[in-house]
Amino acid sequence: MDAPAVDSLRRHFDVLADASLVDEPDRLRGLLVEADALIVRNRTQVTAALLDDAPRLSVVGRLGVGLDNIALGACRERGVQVFPATGANAAAVAEYVIATSLLLLRGAYLSSTAVAQGQWPRSALSNGREAAGGTMAVIGFGGIGRLVAQLARGIGMGVVGYDPQLPADAACWQETGTRGMSFDDALRAADVVTVHVPLVETTHNLLGPAQLKMLKPHAVLINTSRGGVIDENALADALRQGRLGGAALDVFADEPLKAGSPLAGVPNLILTPHIAGLTMQSNARVSSLVASRVMDALLA
Ligand code: NAD
Repeated sequence: MDAPAVDSLRRHFDVLADASLVDEPDRLRGLLVEADALIVRNRTQVTAALLDDAPRLSVVGRLGVGLDNIALGACRERGVQVFPATGANAAAVAEYVIATSLLLLRGAYLSSTAVAQGQWPRSALSNGREAAGGTMAVIGFGGIGRLVAQLARGIGMGVVGYDPQLPADAACWQETGTRGMSFDDALRAADVVTVHVPLVETTHNLLGPAQLKMLKPHAVLINTSRGGVIDENALADALRQGRLGGAALDVFADEPLKAGSPLAGVPNLILTPHIAGLTMQSNARVSSLVASRVMDALLA
């Protein structure tokens, strides 16, 4: 948590700010006996058992948006309020999507090492594609998906979208210049596919072998949502066999990646350690938003 946000909490409460608790669940459980509030990122698993050891707990702050690490039903049953940082890191994720899309479409990122070593792979890299005039498919059209659509329109892309929870006449399609369509049609239309769904039962392996086969062979795929949403084995196969232009993954089924991950050594693949939503600015916004929500709830 950003230091100024921690300081703002310290003006009212005893605060234990200790990031190492992420890796010490037993110590965390012991400390929670006395806690009124718990603030986590995405790695701490807030389970029913953890809540049972926290009799005073009334608030969980989440420094981020995804709630797949929090047992929401168990929180509800125990009257524990959950406050995510809705919207506060959307700009960071959206910019990551545009940046990685452009890198993958041009393939230029492949050349740094070769050029530094005195090679000149100009013809190998002469078949890059422009984003302008191409189509981006936004899968999951919530807060982040809509911002991505706006940025993509700004660089001249056509945008199509899929979201089963939005009716065809929802205002957000028109407001962002996005054509809503079926999942399969969106995949088939796209030069860039970007995924912005929560990880829930219905989105697990949303993009498996059958869906990856629907993509154009030069299409690129960006995943900043959650690892379990894309079948990593199927994606690795598609990239190794040249059935896909490239992919950028910020999130993984297991974080960090385990030795022997199917993604190791795969070509045309950008890997980042779950940082799409993390910038100096977003961390300050996320931290102050969660601090103020937690504070309001505890002082109410
Ligand atoms: P949001 O709740 O505003 O939007 C999610 C959208 O997905 C909703 O509109 C919902 O209707 C839609 N959806 C649900 N099931 C779907 C399905 N089967 N197919 C298509 N759409 C479906 O959430 P958001 O703020 O846009 O964030 C999206 C996700 O991004 C979060 O759940 C989180 O996991 C992830 N995230 C990652 C980072 C990062 O750093 N990598 C940062 C922020 C958020």
